[in-house]
Amino acid sequence: VGKLLKHAPSKPATLQGITITHPERVIDPASGLTKLDLAHYYDAVAPYLLPYLKNRPVYLLRSPGGLTGKAFFQRHAIRAAIPEIAILDPSVDPEHQPLLVINSAKALVSAAQMGTIELHTCNARADCMDKPDCMVFDLDPDPKLKWQRVVDGARLLREFLNELGLDSFVKTSGSKGLHVVVPLARRHTWETVTRCSEAVARHLAETFPRKFGIKMGEQNRVCKIYIDHLRNQKMASTVAPYSVRARQGLSVSTPLSWDELDDVTNSAMWNIQSLPARLKALKKDPWEAYGNTRQTISKAMLRKLDMK
Ligand code: ATP
Ligand code: MN
Ligand code: MN
Repeated sequence: VGKLLKHAPSKPATLQGITITHPERVIDPASGLTKLDLAHYYDAVAPYLLPYLKNRPVYLLRSPGGLTGKAFFQRHAIRAAIPEIAILDPSVDPEHQPLLVINSAKALVSAAQMGTIELHTCNARADCMDKPDCMVFDLDPDPKLKWQRVVDGARLLREFLNELGLDSFVKTSGSKGLHVVVPLARRHTWETVTRCSEAVARHLAETFPRKFGIKMGEQNRVCKIYIDHLRNQKMASTVAPYSVRARQGLSVSTPLSWDELDDVTNSAMWNIQSLPARLKALKKDPWEAYGNTRQTISKAMLRKLDMK
């Protein structure tokens, strides 16, 4: 009887009107965190996270069995629909099944119910996929590099962007590195943004060859930060602010203010347990200005970057 009871299904829980099945299922054996913990996290951060998902194609890293189970990356609607998750008009990406979008706390909890751990977003919104609304720099440090050098690298990038006339925002990836995001007015083509991000990365790597690399391959980034600018192509994606990572400890990609960056000790510093407390303790949203920052890439900037 004892054995049977141990394997008896746990009682479902309800969150945002969504039934969470197997709420006690441990998804991270190292921390003992459960499926319900994950759903609670997404429910708690919904007001912070939803603005970055709104009307934007979202890709889901789903792993219904938890971190030790088989994960899959879902870009399009598949046969088994996820309740509450909307699908975009097929014209947004005519070659494939419709893309997905999460516009409500209910849809977010529904995604967690369906085994979603990570949320990845595109740099454009569905109503105008041809005009990106941000430019992303993914800073990938060599594993041997001290964290302080990663912080220094992000600051250098920020200064360089500032000299061009662009404000930027920083977040941990929740894994190993940092992401620096430049919000843009939806005026530029993918080509302009792609080439601009490449030129920024190249200038930094040429100016500080010991600190930055832009060539792929591990041998090109020994003790350096690889500036991955390839996130700026149409349909490419980056993990969303406040997304959980499918890693031991269930860390979170955490938006930071530039002022607090020096106190951050690693990319996986916050997780689903500590992040809601961080938000409560903060006096203001570190990315408060993000939504009102609409910048353009001017001719003068392109000239400074030696672009025509
Ligand atoms: P790190 O700090 O470790 O570099 P990261 O979030 O920058 O973390 P990855 O998690 O390795 O880097 O993601 C790499 C890229 O691949 C992102 O653009 C992401 O959206 C995409 N991606 C992530 N998982 C998958 C997957 N299973 N299949 C396809 N693309 C993925
Ligand atoms: Mn990265
Ligand atoms: Mn990368």
